[in-house]
Amino acid sequence: MIKVTQVASGSIADELGLKPGTELISVNGRELDDFLDWQFLTADEEFTLHIRQPDGEEIEYEIERPLTEPMGAAVEPARIRRCANRCDFCFVDGLPEGLRDVLYIRDDDYRLSFQYGNFATLTNLKPADEARIIEYRLSPLYVSVHATDPVIRRWLLRNPTAPDILEQLRRFAEHGIRFQTQIVMSPGVNDGRVMEQTLADLYAFGGPILGVSIVPVGLTEFSKHSRVREPTTEECRTAVRQLTVWQERALAERGAPWVYGADELYLRADLALPAEASYGDFEQVENGVGSVRFLQRRIREDAGLFGDWAGRRIGVVTGASMGRLMPQVMAPLEEASRARLELIVVPNGLFGPRVTTAGLLPGKSIAEALAGRSDLDLILLPGESLNDDHLFIDNMSADELAAVVPVPLRFSKDFSDALETGAAA
Ligand code: SF4
Repeated sequence: MIKVTQVASGSIADELGLKPGTELISVNGRELDDFLDWQFLTADEEFTLHIRQPDGEEIEYEIERPLTEPMGAAVEPARIRRCANRCDFCFVDGLPEGLRDVLYIRDDDYRLSFQYGNFATLTNLKPADEARIIEYRLSPLYVSVHATDPVIRRWLLRNPTAPDILEQLRRFAEHGIRFQTQIVMSPGVNDGRVMEQTLADLYAFGGPILGVSIVPVGLTEFSKHSRVREPTTEECRTAVRQLTVWQERALAERGAPWVYGADELYLRADLALPAEASYGDFEQVENGVGSVRFLQRRIREDAGLFGDWAGRRIGVVTGASMGRLMPQVMAPLEEASRARLELIVVPNGLFGPRVTTAGLLPGKSIAEALAGRSDLDLILLPGESLNDDHLFIDNMSADELAAVVPVPLRFSKDFSDALETGAAA
């Protein structure tokens, strides 16, 4: 059973009298466990829906509707699947104390992998989950492969019972499931020859492996430094050389680069980012793969949509890693918006200087960096630094930040969303 949380006005759910708190019990006699059941079991023109209203009344509806008309009921989020691994590089171990409880949950959930592109290891799947992935054709799935050698993968995941990932992928691929995959590169463990074998195995898989990203392991002050370390410049350069050879082969044989280095890998390698064409369709941009080239493309495509910001002073807040790359984005943005831009690189006062991503900037660090900046007309903040409840990682809310900063703030993911036509009014 799952509960309704919201009903769209005038929708089928509204006409049926569903309301927040209505319990959705079954569809065609099959019990509902989570949003996936609701989404997939109701994806028919005709079905029987069994519900219980908040006052206890149970009702069965025979639904007939065109597929183009959505049901219009949002349901409660799924209870997150916990992770069965204990990776030495786990971000959760690298968190300081005193943050929101939810941040300490190690999630590893195939449902979120399908729905939101969260990477999952597939090590906690039960037979019923596998059957469900196949029945609902949950594709593409985002999978943390790390290494295809089962022994090395178990070592990386600190999980002696982790199944053979290639066998798992094969079973799903036979049923038409596709995968975006990642390798979090832990130096001395899954780089070098191990990475070569992993790439060879994934490439040999053919079409079902849509892409592979290589992300250097990232640690905080609080991580298990006695057990894992970050890669050196030379180790990152080696990885870039390796992936470039595979990219060239994939481009020649399959017409797409297939394997991608995270921006962070090039930064740590002290190498220039590859050209836009090297990122395919930017399928893994949410994983920090091609963020700069993606922003440049968006600015170019949306150049005509920017409002008239001529002469306005706009501060652009980011973290230290993007801070090194942002000048490549600021120049075309300045040209498109005609604003005078100032990059404001904020050090992470919560995690320490090792953590440089904009998405993990605490509100308090941003507030300190922006104190007294009444000389600006507007400040743009990284949209990914806020969660769905508009909270920064340190629990400060967007409203609390706005109350202490003397100029208007806008959260932005690609600049066009914040500077589009009419925004200057
Ligand atoms: S798979 Fe590893 S990194 Fe991911 S949540 Fe589990 S322990 Fe942490």
